[in-house]
Amino acid sequence: MNRCRTLSESLKEEYTDRIGVLLVVSGPAGAGKGSVVKWLNEHDENVFLSISETTRAPRKGDEEGVTYYFVDRKTFEERIEEDHYFEFAQIYGNYYGTPKNRIIDMLKEGKDVILEIEMQGAAKVKEMYPQAVTVFIMPPSLEELRERITGRGSDSEDEINRRMSCAKDEIALAPNYDYIIVNKKNALVESGKNLQSVLCAEHLKTSRILNQNV
Ligand code: 5GP
Repeated sequence: MNRCRTLSESLKEEYTDRIGVLLVVSGPAGAGKGSVVKWLNEHDENVFLSISETTRAPRKGDEEGVTYYFVDRKTFEERIEEDHYFEFAQIYGNYYGTPKNRIIDMLKEGKDVILEIEMQGAAKVKEMYPQAVTVFIMPPSLEELRERITGRGSDSEDEINRRMSCAKDEIALAPNYDYIIVNKKNALVESGKNLQSVLCAEHLKTSRILNQNV
């Protein structure tokens, strides 16, 4: 009797006051994860992107507060000490980190939050917050990935080979992810809808609805 009341109360509360899903998306450079994430962000008003902080220099097309928050190394290291980051990693000598407070607030408000981060960061998030849902965006083939990387233009043959070798190492870790989406050629909408389906299924999980595991 008691248990029934608890369950129904929790159901009522959770339907009106649900906690958002933390979706972690990774994949090799050139797999198209940025485009797939952007598609979902544009087509689902409850989905928000976490904006990371980085010490890398802004590139052409970067916009402060949109692609990243750009901070200097000293500030980043002070913020590490202050426990400001949910996770952070060093990639090619630059720090990248996910600020903690904003994500927690958004999840509590019932918003779904996407982190587009590399694999070390994704593993840390899953360890600290097992309810996070991890998705690996896979290129349809290594040949297609090479074509996409080459098509970006200015990279030297050595740089392309380096990226391909990193991509192979990353693909080898794809089995650690909860879901894999193969981002086929000219199929952005299909990939975006697949990512949306993952989110939808997560919201329908019994454990999530009954608040047993959130
Ligand atoms: P880029 O410098 O090309 O923008 O990003 C390099 C890599 O850093 C990408 O794989 C990107 O997903 C990853 N990244 C971006 N922000 C974060 C973050 O906050 N944490 C971690 N661990 N990786 C990040």
